[in-house]
Amino acid sequence: MNIILLGPPGAGKGTQSAGLVERHGMRQLSTGDMLRAAVKAGTPVGLKAKEVMERGELVSDEIVSDLIDAELAAMGQDTGAIFDGYPRTAAQAESLDAILARNGRTLDHVIELEVNEDALVVRITGRFSCAKCGALYHDTANPPSTPGVCDSCGSTEFKRRPDDNEETVRTRMQEYRAKTAPILPGYEARGIVSRIDGMAAIDTVAGQIDAILRS
Ligand code: AMP
Repeated sequence: MNIILLGPPGAGKGTQSAGLVERHGMRQLSTGDMLRAAVKAGTPVGLKAKEVMERGELVSDEIVSDLIDAELAAMGQDTGAIFDGYPRTAAQAESLDAILARNGRTLDHVIELEVNEDALVVRITGRFSCAKCGALYHDTANPPSTPGVCDSCGSTEFKRRPDDNEETVRTRMQEYRAKTAPILPGYEARGIVSRIDGMAAIDTVAGQIDAILRS
């Protein structure tokens, strides 16, 4: 099973990917996570991507497609892939088709999480994650059950993404509207697009995703 989770920043792609990994043993391929790791490690890719990401713009198609290509090639054939935050442009969508074909995989579902853009700013500026295990939280919608302590690993250190501020979020949404949303009609023509209300509760969205995977 190979699926794409699509939606503007804050739609819940990361949260839902983590759930799919846990429930179905799939593997999350998040270009955002890969790029943040490259920035942290100071690799040549990280050095190129850092400022572009801080502005909320898109890094080059070649960089992200190469990252996906390498990850997928290193993955066992039996493990399902969740593409999270990739593809984000028509060129990336074309590259993904070629990468999947090379790896003997086909795309089963494109799931779009639909969201109210005004609410996204609140969602994004309130989100944070465990610095140790990466578990995702939100100040009001999904805080740790004991304040200041990670539910998953017990760590007391948390972090926020530098690009989760209102100004950058607006740029990221604009990029989504201008460059990412236009790739949907191509997938619709293949009959593999499903839409879900991404404003619903996390468990509700997860249940709807599972229903799509069973269909
Ligand atoms: P994300 O974690 O998916 O919100 O991505 C964070 C940032 O990484 C984006 O705002 C872009 O600057 C960059 N990025 C992640 N994935 C891609 C992609 N597929 N194409 C271009 N830039 C990306």
